[in-house]
Amino acid sequence: MRTIFSGIKPTGHLTLGNYLGALGRFVDLQHEALCVFSIVDLHAMTVEHSPDRLRELTREAATLYLAAGLDPDVCVVVRQSAVGALHAELTYLMECTAYVGELQRMIQYKEKGRGRPKTRASLLTYPALMAADILLYGTTHVPVGDDQKQHVELTRDLAVRFNRTYGEVFVVPEMMDAAVAARVMDLQEPTKKMMKSTSDDSLGQIRLLDPPDVVRRKMRRAVTDSDGVVRVDRDGKPGLTNLLEILAAATGEESVETVAARYASYGQLKRDTADAVVAVLEPLQKSYADLAKDPAAVDAILAAGADRARDLGTPYLAAAKEAMGVG
Ligand code: ATP
Ligand code: MG
Repeated sequence: MRTIFSGIKPTGHLTLGNYLGALGRFVDLQHEALCVFSIVDLHAMTVEHSPDRLRELTREAATLYLAAGLDPDVCVVVRQSAVGALHAELTYLMECTAYVGELQRMIQYKEKGRGRPKTRASLLTYPALMAADILLYGTTHVPVGDDQKQHVELTRDLAVRFNRTYGEVFVVPEMMDAAVAARVMDLQEPTKKMMKSTSDDSLGQIRLLDPPDVVRRKMRRAVTDSDGVVRVDRDGKPGLTNLLEILAAATGEESVETVAARYASYGQLKRDTADAVVAVLEPLQKSYADLAKDPAAVDAILAAGADRARDLGTPYLAAAKEAMGVG
C-alpha cells in the first residue's frame, strides 16, 4: 500500500505556488493512499520568527488545508509540533546518519544561511528534520514542488544508508513530480520562485486568501515581454510561460503547449488565467470563511490527526532506535 507524506511550513500566507505544487495535489491524492499532511511548524523556526505570528499562520494553514478539501475522515491532517517528540527524536537519529558535508551542500542552506553570523543551527540540520518527517510514517511517495527535490533525494540517501548500516527499518520514498506548474514563478520577477516568505503582500505573489479583484489586478500587472508571441519558452519568456503553466494547472490541462496554441494575445491570456485562478480560489475562500468561525472544530480535527500520526509513527521510531542500539 502507498503511503504519502507532505507538508507546508507556516512561514507566511500560503500562495498559489503552494496550492499548485502541493495542497491542490494533496486533495486529489487523499483517496489514493494512506496520506499524512502536516503543517510543519517546527520547520518555520529555522529562521527568525515571531511566536504569535507562527501560531496564527499555523492555524491559518490548517484551516486552509481543510478549506481546500482535505477530509479528516480520509487523510491525516496534523500539526507537526503536536507530535513533535517523535519528529525530534527521529531527527536526532537522522543527524547521526547524515554528514555535515551533505547538509552544507543543500541549496536552501547556501542561499539563506551560509556565512551569516546569525544563521540558526536548525537551518543547517533542517533536511534531517525533513527526512525524519518523511521516514517516520513509512512514506512511499512524497508530492512536493520542484524546489524540494534535493531534500527528498537526501532523505532517500539517508534511508538507504541507515538500512545498510543498521538493518532494514525505513521505506525508501520516491518523489512525485507535479505534471505542470511544479515551480510557479513570481509574477513580477518570473525568474524567481513564488514563495510565501518573501515580502509582505508583494504584487508578484498570489495568496490563497487574496480576493478576486486582487488576483485580477496582480495578473494584469504580471511581467511578460514585448515580442507579443504566445509560446512556451521557460528561459526566453519566463513571465509568459509562467502564466501558461498557471492556466494549465488551474484548469487541469496536461499540456502547456496546447494551452499556448489557443492564444494570440497576452491580454486575453492574462484575463483567462485570472479567471481560472479565481475559479479555484473562490470555493476555497468560502469554505475558509465558514471554518474560521469555529476554531474549536479545527482544533478537534488537529487533535485527532495528532493521535493518528502518533500511532502511525511510533513503531518506525521504536524500530529505528532498536536498530541503532538505543531505547
Ligand atoms: P518558504 O518561503 O517559507 O520556503 P514556500 O512558499 O517555498 O515558503 P514551503 O513551505 O517551503 O513553501 O513548501 C511547501 C510546498 O509547496 C512544497 O511542496 C514546495 O515544493 C511547494 N512549493 C513552494 N513554492 C512553490 C512554487 N512556487 N511552485 C510550486 N510548488 C511550490
Ligand atoms: Mg520553500
